[in-house]
Amino acid sequence: MGNKKGLLIILSGPSGVGKGTVRKIVMRDKKLNLAYSISMTTRAPRSNEVDGKDYFFVSNEEFEKNIENNNLLEHAEFVGNKYGTPRDYVEKLRNEGKNVILEIEVNGAQQVLSQVDKKDRISIFLVPPSIEELEKRIRHRRSEEEEIIQQRLNKARREMLLTDQYDYVVLNDTVGRAAGEIKAIIRKNIG
Ligand code: 5GP
Repeated sequence: MGNKKGLLIILSGPSGVGKGTVRKIVMRDKKLNLAYSISMTTRAPRSNEVDGKDYFFVSNEEFEKNIENNNLLEHAEFVGNKYGTPRDYVEKLRNEGKNVILEIEVNGAQQVLSQVDKKDRISIFLVPPSIEELEKRIRHRRSEEEEIIQQRLNKARREMLLTDQYDYVVLNDTVGRAAGEIKAIIRKNIG
């Protein structure tokens, strides 16, 4: 018996591009058998975020302890906060046959690309129509100070140069279309 082990799906792209929104639409397709990898972060929760659902919100000390104990599949610092993927949680889901989506920034994505066998994962990079459009989306979120917004935009400009390392680059022109394209990519890869 035994399920086939699930695929790792790396969904990356600059902050504010809409990874979360697109991912939530993709996950409505139950036939794709998807699960979301909930990350650990030292960032403070936004007003609409729930601990254990959007992130596991932890202290810096707790995060460092998880690194020491090798509990994180990957981790990265992003504009002053730390983010990482709990290794055991992802493995457990994959062993249950779930295809697991990692919604992560580019440094973390690179760590997963170099650690996980090619046959076990696919990588998708979501791009905004333009940097101007990205800026609009980040400002629309109204959750960050101006300096942080500028830092996120600078980082986005650098991140956009790394698209050739991914299996697929998807344009987030409209969320419905981008989600449809990603669903087709996943369908193709899970056979
Ligand atoms: P935000 O603060 O906007 O929630 O996330 C900032 C950036 O960190 C986003 O690009 C988000 O996808 C990324 N991120 C979230 N969780 C993780 C993680 O576990 N590892 C890495 N490397 N990046 C993450």
